[in-house]
Amino acid sequence: MSLIEEACVAKGMRMTEQRRVIARVLSGAQDHPDVEELHRRASAIDDNISISTVYRTVKMLEDAGIIERHEFGDGRSRYEQLRDEHHDHLIDMRSGQVIEFRSEEIEKLQEEIARNLGFKLCGHRLELYAIPLDADDEA
Ligand SMILES: [Zn+2]
Repeated sequence: MSLIEEACVAKGMRMTEQRRVIARVLSGAQDHPDVEELHRRASAIDDNISISTVYRTVKMLEDAGIIERHEFGDGRSRYEQLRDEHHDHLIDMRSGQVIEFRSEEIEKLQEEIARNLGFKLCGHRLELYAIPLDADDEA
């Protein structure tokens, strides 16, 4: 069973075969696919899976806190499995490639900022929009 399937079962969610396929595709994704891309991958396994089933399933998984939704500046919702280890994203604006990173310095700084404002930090979202340093040379 994929991690997402296991999380669903643990939460007592009813898992149809189509939901299992979608969960497995999401668990196996190394990137941050949107619904259309998920549909492409899921229907390669089971071509009876409709795009609306994918929509409903990711909504269900998101509401259950099993997957996370991102919008990386292009208005599309992208999804990834929630992992124990938090990470942030850098988006290459030229290629659309999404690079994951984690900075202890930034993590600490954010907690400090919240604390100085009288708060305990519960979470954050950080997206860096960038172009490659050598992009100007190629122009
Ligand atoms: Zn990510």
